[in-house]
Amino acid sequence: MVIKMVEKSKYTKRMDGRKFDEIRPIEAKIGVIPSADGSAMFKTGDTVAIAAVFGPRVLHPQHMQNPEKGILRVNYGMMPFSVSDRIRPGPSRRSQEISKVTEWALAPIVELEAFPNTVVDVFIQIPQADAGTRVAGINAAVMALAHAGVPMKEMASAISIGKLDKTLVVDINKDEEDFREGEGSTDIPICILSRSKKISLLQLDGKISVKEMKKVFKMAKEACTKIHKVQVKALKEVGR
Ligand code: UDP
Repeated sequence: MVIKMVEKSKYTKRMDGRKFDEIRPIEAKIGVIPSADGSAMFKTGDTVAIAAVFGPRVLHPQHMQNPEKGILRVNYGMMPFSVSDRIRPGPSRRSQEISKVTEWALAPIVELEAFPNTVVDVFIQIPQADAGTRVAGINAAVMALAHAGVPMKEMASAISIGKLDKTLVVDINKDEEDFREGEGSTDIPICILSRSKKISLLQLDGKISVKEMKKVFKMAKEACTKIHKVQVKALKEVGR
């Protein structure tokens, strides 16, 4: 007889007492930057993201214009004192990567064909970070785009799923991200479109099985449905 040993995960209880599928407390607010065409704040636990949308405006220089569709341009940045180790102001490899993946996550929801030759600028700032800033930024940006009245095909919500040793958790925080026992920690940011349920962002740095990945999608879908409701409620409160 072969006895198969199933090794127990070294991450058995969440550090902040949450259930494995529990999102941190969420807050969403629209219109936080009055001078922008659209703006929003999205907070999950101690991670705060603010997004401001400007446009669509005619794109300059002219040779960058696309006569068939508009351009979406995202600029993501963390404020120097958003974490305890001060971050050097200005662009970094990380901020450029996050700006790009956020652009790709948002582009499928925007009706870019409706405004050729123009640009929609999305600025995302992180005043306070405790992991999950790119997904919080996406959630804020979606609300800011809707607030700006930019034509949209559907909405989108994003969440980061963590794999801590062998345990999958929703909305990983920084303490969890720093977990180093067993297989250590991996975070998987995912953005899901509200109606089509298509995935417009999926990043994964680490090892995961197909079975685990299926569970990741299920957890992300459930979390994004909850986040979507919060986004819609905040927009309805300002009549959007
Ligand atoms: N972080 C940090 N210093 C940095 C970059 C990130 O302390 O220069 C922290 C911050 O809390 C961030 C977390 O590390 O939220 C995880 O960063 P990651 O690059 O995985 O992106 P995120 O999870 O924020 O989308």
